[in-house]
Amino acid sequence: MDSNDVQADLKHVLYTKEQIQQRITELAAQIDKDYEGREILIVGVLKGAVMVMADLARALHSHISMDWMAVSSYGSGTQSSGVVRILKDLDTDLMGKDVLIVEDIIDSGLTLSWLKTNLESRGTASVEICTAFRKPTAAKVEIDVKYVGFDIPNEFVVGYGLDYAEKYRNLDFVGTLAPHVYE
Ligand code: 5GP
Ligand code: MG
Ligand code: MG
Repeated sequence: MDSNDVQADLKHVLYTKEQIQQRITELAAQIDKDYEGREILIVGVLKGAVMVMADLARALHSHISMDWMAVSSYGSGTQSSGVVRILKDLDTDLMGKDVLIVEDIIDSGLTLSWLKTNLESRGTASVEICTAFRKPTAAKVEIDVKYVGFDIPNEFVVGYGLDYAEKYRNLDFVGTLAPHVYE
């Protein structure tokens, strides 16, 4: 095997490309139904949401527009603090808009909780959340996530937009890393 082969770094596949695509199609159908007759502004949170945004946007039949935000969570180490700094704000005026925040994964949910409140304060008609993956830790924060792709175990996963040291985002499936990668 080529020493630069990404697959060699993976331990276990959690969801295949086919399973993810199937689930995104189901979520899109649900969203189309829920927003019938309304235009949706889908807001992707960079960089992790790039894949789910691209797939969800193409699976939706509703009129949509797309915008992006980049945020950074203050805090030491790997624990997110819930104190958020906006690195790139939206280009869109949110007044009267039906906004759907699109995320890769919800772990503590602190960043998202802050983001939802922030967007709601801009005069939106509604703000809902769609995430590809959710961990059990997310239950600790009072946050209503309307659309969830998959509830996953409390493991560090990569692929489908999710990185480890900025790598593995391009995988079309989601899996866990082999210990040799981070040990
Ligand atoms: P939180 O919900 O804790 O505020 O932050 C969620 C963010 O932490 C995600 O957007 C993602 O960037 C990162 N994250 C959380 N869990 C994982 C994981 O299992 N794998 C990867 N690659 N990133 C994760
Ligand atoms: Mg994210
Ligand atoms: Mg990351």
